[in-house]
Amino acid sequence: MRQFCETASFRGDDVPCLVEASLACRVCLSGKIEWGLRVEHWDAEVRCHCLSCGDSRSVSLTDEQALRLSLHR
Ligand SMILES: [Zn+2]
Repeated sequence: MRQFCETASFRGDDVPCLVEASLACRVCLSGKIEWGLRVEHWDAEVRCHCLSCGDSRSVSLTDEQALRLSLHR
């Protein structure tokens, strides 16, 4: 897995399609993403796995973004 740190670009009050677009695969641009939220005390990230090309990446989240994703499904 690549080790660079990416920051999510959606806002806490964005509509679902913008949230999904910000998690879309950066390699093949697929929106078929399996993701899991990982929240620690001072730190949150979402781990994304592309179902189309198999690429995996981690995206850093603000508190607001983590809350948004936890309500997403
Ligand atoms: Zn992909």
